[in-house]
Amino acid sequence: MRVTVLGCQSPYPGPGGATPGYLIQTEQANLLLDCGSGVISQLGRYLPLYQLDAVVLSHYHHDHVADVGVLQYGLMVHQQSGERSPVEPLPLYAPPEPAEKAREMTYRQATKHLPIDDTARATIVDMQLSFWRTDHAMPCYAVKIEAGGKTLVYGADSGPGTDWKPFAAGADLFICEGTFLRRNKPQQPMGHLSVEEAASLAQALSCKALMITHLFPEYREEEVREEAAGFTNGPCLVAKVGLQVQLS
Ligand SMILES: [Zn+2]
Ligand SMILES: [Zn+2]
Repeated sequence: MRVTVLGCQSPYPGPGGATPGYLIQTEQANLLLDCGSGVISQLGRYLPLYQLDAVVLSHYHHDHVADVGVLQYGLMVHQQSGERSPVEPLPLYAPPEPAEKAREMTYRQATKHLPIDDTARATIVDMQLSFWRTDHAMPCYAVKIEAGGKTLVYGADSGPGTDWKPFAAGADLFICEGTFLRRNKPQQPMGHLSVEEAASLAQALSCKALMITHLFPEYREEEVREEAAGFTNGPCLVAKVGLQVQLS
């Protein structure tokens, strides 16, 4: 299983950057995880849009879904020009709430919304997917992807109240948000983690590798790495556009 970071910034993309989006690939399957601002532009470096097998959206905050409209429109055009079947919409797994957002996930024959919750399971060719509600300002789901004997957990957006243990313990790679450095961490938790909290969480869960993501565009890699010193189980990566990780 290979992970390519297409976007990792929040709340908006820096110059040439993108907000959350990750391309997850096996030999047989291409999955897009979140579809933030700038993600479709980055996707084109690796894969034609029409070769996606599925999309998963963790939640409907703008930084995670800003490019869904252009994805849908692009797929529709590729259906008209013959690169995709005109009668097989791309499965788009996403929360059922808020309902007015969920309704927009089905678009003509281009995409079809499939609701997710804690009990949902999905198979994308050779990937097995499951979902986990996180502590966030709106319904938000972490995603676990199992393929080729490896486990990837994408934590989406999450405050400190998420019960991670049953879902993420022992993951080969935990992609976890570290929205705040110490210098701008709010007094009260507000649906996000600090870099320091992400590191100690991944350590406590015995994850084998950590990727810290959901970073302000102006954060420097070294300062994130410094505050992630609490993770010592394995490699600690700081997400940036174009970063690739092979889990094998
Ligand atoms: Zn959010
Ligand atoms: Zn976010």
